[in-house]
Amino acid sequence: MDDCIFCQLAHKEIPTDVVYEDDTVFAFKDIEPMAKIHYLFIPKKHITSVNDLKEGDAAVVADIFKAIATVAARDGFAETGYRVVTNTGADGNQSVYHLHFHVLGGEPIRFPGFD
Ligand code: AMP
Ligand code: ZN
Repeated sequence: MDDCIFCQLAHKEIPTDVVYEDDTVFAFKDIEPMAKIHYLFIPKKHITSVNDLKEGDAAVVADIFKAIATVAARDGFAETGYRVVTNTGADGNQSVYHLHFHVLGGEPIRFPGFD
């Protein structure tokens, strides 16, 4: 989608701090980090939110979680632990309508938005 900021990041139309990339998954540092480690993992293909997942999207969601585990081990926070969060819709405080998974770690994580 042309007007989607996360599509533009994944297509390298806007520079960002990339932490992981493969054929289907793109990950980068959140511009307003809420923890020492705050990465965002997205499907390269535009999916608006959890509400818009289709049968054929199961593989890309699995790919994202495999990528998260790979990066957590690579960057040394798999053992200490981390939180994966995805916000959906207005009540979920979703602000960017391209499916994304926040990965928060590097320190004990309070529940974002509820403290
Ligand atoms: P959400 O509120 O769950 O939709 O999360 C959107 C996240 O995207 C927020 O944590 C923002 O800080 C982050 N964000 C927005 N624009 C950018 C950008 N250009 N680069 C990196 N992170 C961004
Ligand atoms: Zn998009």
